[in-house]
Amino acid sequence: MKTVKRPVSAAPGRLVREHMGLRRLRAYARLGLPVLISMEVLVAQVTFADPIDPNDGTTANTTPKTLFIVADGIPADVIERVNTPGIDAVVEDGSYQRAYVGGDLGTPTESPTVSAVGYMSLLTGTWSNKHNVRANYGIAPNYAFWDIFRVAKHQAVNVTTGLFSTWTDNRSVLMGDGLEEAGGYKLDFVADGFEKDPAFAPALGDIERIQAVDLHVTTLAAKTIIESAPDLSWVYLQHTDDIGHRDGDGPVMDLAVRWVDARVLDLWSAVQARQKKAENEDWLVVVTTDHGRTSSDGMGHGGQSERERTIWIASNSPRMVSNRADRAAIVDIYPSIVEHMRFDLPDDVAAQLEGQSLLSK
Ligand SMILES: [Zn+2]
Repeated sequence: MKTVKRPVSAAPGRLVREHMGLRRLRAYARLGLPVLISMEVLVAQVTFADPIDPNDGTTANTTPKTLFIVADGIPADVIERVNTPGIDAVVEDGSYQRAYVGGDLGTPTESPTVSAVGYMSLLTGTWSNKHNVRANYGIAPNYAFWDIFRVAKHQAVNVTTGLFSTWTDNRSVLMGDGLEEAGGYKLDFVADGFEKDPAFAPALGDIERIQAVDLHVTTLAAKTIIESAPDLSWVYLQHTDDIGHRDGDGPVMDLAVRWVDARVLDLWSAVQARQKKAENEDWLVVVTTDHGRTSSDGMGHGGQSERERTIWIASNSPRMVSNRADRAAIVDIYPSIVEHMRFDLPDDVAAQLEGQSLLSK
């Protein structure tokens, strides 16, 4: 493993086309209104897309692929205010909406707005009363609630999986990679553990070093997507949460959001490059966060305030929006991936899910 030589830049390196509709979508989201895609986009999809299978809404003769990205601890009001050309490019023909974490207030599903709790709710489609992750450390996940990668490996066909991440516990603890009680499956493509490697960027301070890990795993993920295109991949980026805890709301946090957004653009560019050489692939890209932050100064999170509970979901799919009266939740991402990937879900796993697919028919 090598240290990162590329300078860490706050400014995205590319220009992307401005999407006039995005600000309108975000304005709706800011008001708490359900965000529907514009009719123009709908018509374009119906008119120009491949024939749609009326049974499942997917296009025929395509190979489904999914990449989901978690950018840690970015409140919805911040992602909507800061200039984010990377996310704008992803949602240009897709969707953006506010959503929530933390389960349902005052019920057994109420869950701390803490990082590992949020990832685990995304990974298992359940809240902490089921997956049993209520903190970042000292945790004992309940593997009876299958994570989405276990579902992938349970399919009759071979489904390849990838994880690109700081915080090795995402794989070794939350997903129980290779553990018998978690199904015994191993991920096919893994880039993690750099933060534990003393040879990785030893001269950097803690926060800059994790930022360098984020850049490194993004580079490896982009390369893997272009060359091997794992069927299901997760990229986890930590930098924004580190800055949030250190600096709270303000220009430094905004800069961190722009920096992470540039990584989103790196990954989105990789998906587009891959699609150019593999036109039969049907990519679902989902970008989200694991929790908001406190209203007072944006430094903390973990409680049940509206700002801490409010997250956002951005996607290249215009169908990835809640058509329910209530907001989408982080637990809706799992069944959405299941639908897009056309996974067979064991009945007992399906029965435990708390969310529902956002991919409207
Ligand atoms: Zn977090």
